[in-house]
This record gives sequence, structure tokens and C-alpha cells, in this order.
Amino acid sequence: MTVSPQSGISFPNGMETRLYINNEFVPSRSGQKFDVINPATEEVTASVFEADGADVDAAVQAAKAAFPSWSALGGFQRASYFYKLANLVESCNFDLAKLEAVSMGKPVGKYTEGTNMARFIRYVAGKAADVKGESSLQTAGFVNLTFRQPYGVCAAIIPWNAPVTEFFFKVTPAVLAGNTIVLKSSEKAPLTSLLLARLCQEAQIPAGVINVLSGMGPTCGAAMASHMDIRKISFTGSARTGRAIKQAALESNLKHVALELGGKNPLIIFDDADLSKAANAAASSILYNSGQVCIASTRVYVHASILERFCDLFTSSLVKQAANPIKGNDPLSPFTVRGPQADKAQFTSIMKYITDSRKAGYKILTGGDREGERGFYIQPTIILNPEESSAVMREEIFGPVVCVRSFQTEEEVISLANETEYGLYASTFTRDLSRAMRMARSLEAGIVGLNCTSPMMTLDMPFGGVKQSGDGRENGQHALDDWTELKTVYIGL
Ligand code: ADP
Repeated sequence: MTVSPQSGISFPNGMETRLYINNEFVPSRSGQKFDVINPATEEVTASVFEADGADVDAAVQAAKAAFPSWSALGGFQRASYFYKLANLVESCNFDLAKLEAVSMGKPVGKYTEGTNMARFIRYVAGKAADVKGESSLQTAGFVNLTFRQPYGVCAAIIPWNAPVTEFFFKVTPAVLAGNTIVLKSSEKAPLTSLLLARLCQEAQIPAGVINVLSGMGPTCGAAMASHMDIRKISFTGSARTGRAIKQAALESNLKHVALELGGKNPLIIFDDADLSKAANAAASSILYNSGQVCIASTRVYVHASILERFCDLFTSSLVKQAANPIKGNDPLSPFTVRGPQADKAQFTSIMKYITDSRKAGYKILTGGDREGERGFYIQPTIILNPEESSAVMREEIFGPVVCVRSFQTEEEVISLANETEYGLYASTFTRDLSRAMRMARSLEAGIVGLNCTSPMMTLDMPFGGVKQSGDGRENGQHALDDWTELKTVYIGL
């Protein structure tokens, strides 16, 4: 079966499994491989070459060699490669969908990452010539300037939950700003990054500008985080790994570290809200990507006077939205609306939160079990009134599990919502405009939804968290600036 005329890659036999270094596909130096497991069938999808420190070093050297000529190009020239790349990515949306379906279980029928990212690439490419400094005439006898210049060799480490999106959120602004890059994909979903590498090759992006490695975190990822020639690293994933990367940066060359970490996001529903809209939004939020997104609304606080009515609406909306229109739940079927959890480790960890909640005697409004005997499927689950201090209320579960609690006053719910080390996405439903604005100001989060919640996000607005949800912003006006350093230039007249 041919994947696409553009990529010329056949699927599944012709899947690329090698590393992409200096515009060539090469096996890892050790020859070592690891298996990617299909979470719907628990069978091996592919055996992929595993990079270690020596491969990281080779990729960094290629990126270093490419940097002088790539950074010397103008923004318009760099952008021209990316317009070509955007067209290729757009035409390969379905190929990307299929690879993701058999790696981390995202259903093909709902897959739009390729088309969305084509839009994003064009948007950022349109800004590539707008990376500018400032000028000052405020000192007598001087004209003073700032330049915005690229860091040099940069790195990106991405997770498995939205691999194509994460690839481009990092690579596009980094490389358009004039940096060269080494990217490591997640060991759970490395295949789309390799197809994207093939598309970069087809777009004739010069050798060494973009290098793509597959490998494990503690070896390949750690070697990147501590590499002395990498000047900036951007990471999306767990808080635990974010901490390890910051530590490695600290102990090596103090490289700049941008972090996009987890969330335990509050969704607050007041008694004047449009309840059915709020219930539908809460259900969509926790079902999105089978609950495997850092922005999922996992703590729902409902005003005590409407708790029962909301719970009824929420439960029925969740069940309805989660149902597949025809029998079967194969992610490769265009009819499947909900995929499995990405792998066995995720499945086991999520199931433990559910069984512990049962043991604690918490009421489960719907779900509460695995689904079927084969594949890592879990029923979407609503837990009512778990203790504020319980693990399900405090920790990021990264699965289709949501907690509902009630509150009495605005002041109380703000305090409850903010009582977490996370601060990514907070949202509220109310028809009272003043209250909505008070909430937007008081909620400790990088993103606030008013009468909407996640997955609402747009490519032209900044994305990122406060507190331990991260450091730095992606997307929006400033995406390119974040991949540059400021230089001050004094000119004596
Ligand atoms: P998850 O457990 O959900 O996969 P992680 O934060 O562990 O989330 O993984 C996100 C990315 O970080 C993956 O690409 C993974 O390989 C990488 N990673 C894991 N541990 C480390 C580490 N110690 N140093 C650098 N990267 C790591």
C-alpha cells in the first residue's frame, strides 16, 4: 500500500526506521533497535533504530556545520523552504494519521495534525522576516541598536501525545529564526517524526539544518540535555523529565531551557452558566486524545445548587460523545472516535488511579473499568467528590478520568482552583461578565477559557503555563523571538 505520491514511502513495510542526520537516513552507530507497540492490538508495529550519545554527537556536529550558512540566509529565503514543506505535510495528513494510529492509537478519522501544522508552518514562515531588533537615539553622540540573533545549535525533545504538532511547534520557529536543530521524538511514537524528516529532505532544506533522532530519554535525551554544543533546548513532557533536563543543563553549559509540562486543570461552573454547553465542553475536554493532553480539564468544580443537574448532563454527554457510531474501536477505522491509551505503562498507571478511587469508596458516575480484553482501552470515567487531597485530585492522570466536586462561593473556588503546583489551563462557565473577568484575573494559569475550555487553542495566541506547568511560550506573535538572543550594539558617532 503506498502512503503518498509525495513521500513515496509505503506503509507498513517501507516505514522509515533509521535516524536522520545531515540529510541522510542512517542506522544508529550501535545498531541497537527498540520496538514500537500498537496499543490497539498489543502487537509490534515496527523496530526502530535507537540513538545513543554517539548519534547525538554526530547530529550535533552536522547541525553545527550547517549553522553558519543557514543563519546567514535572510528570513524570506529560509521561509521559501518551509512553504514547500507545508505543502508536503498537508498532502501527507493521512499517512501521518496511519502511522500515529499504529504507534500511539490516535484514530485516523479525527486526525488533523498534518493539515493544522501546514497552516502553522505557513503562518510562522510569513513572520520569518519580522525578526527585528530596536534602535535608540537617547544617548548623545551614539546610535544604539539591538539585534535578534539565533542561538546556534538547538535541541527539541517531544512527547508521544501529539507528535506532529510538537515537532512543528518547536522546529518551525527555531529553524526559521536561523537556528539549526536536533530533535528527539518519543520512543512511543517515533514514526511520524521520521516521515517528517523525509519531507524535510524532499523540501530540500539544506543538510544538517534539521536532524531527527529516535531514542530513549535517559540515554539519547539526557545526552542532548547535557551536550556542550547545544545552546537551547525545548522540551514538552512530564514535570519529572522537565526537572531532569533543567538539572542536566545546569550541570553542563547552562543552555537555555524552555519547558512545556503538565496540568491539573480546573473547570469551574457557576449556577448561572449555560449548563448543557458546559457539560458538553467538559465531556469533550476529557475525551480529547483519550484524556492524554496536558490541557485536559480534570478537576471540575460545580456550584452546589446545580451539582445534581450538571452531573446528569455531564454523564450523558460523556457517554454519547464517547460512543463509536459503528461496532469496533480500531484506530485505523475512519468511524472510530476514541482510541486506546498510548501504551501499557499509561494504561496501568491510569487503572491504578481508578482502582484506588474505588477502594477509597468514591462514587463513580460512569466508567471505572478497562474496555474489552485486547488493547489498552479505558472507559471514560467520572469520579464524584474525591477528597481534595486525594491523588486523583492532585496528580496528572493523563487519561480519560475526571473528578467533580462542588463549591459554594467564588472566593472559595478560586482558592481551590489555585491550590496546585500546576498552572496551565483554567476555565469557567458563567453568564456574568464581571465575574468572568475577575476569574480570568485570579486564576493562576497560562491560559484561561471563559465559557469554553480545552482543547480550545489557536495557533496565533501564546501557549504555555505558569508555576510548575512550564517556562516559556510557544505559538503566537512571539514564537520566533523566543528562539533568538538579543545583542546590544553601541555605535559612537
Ligand atoms: P512520558 O512518560 O509520558 O513519555 P516523559 O516526560 O517521560 O513523558 O517523556 C517525554 C519525552 O522526554 C520523551 O521523548 C522521552 O524519551 C524524553 N525523556 C524521558 N526521560 C528523559 C531524560 N532523563 N532526559 C531527556 N529526555 C527524557
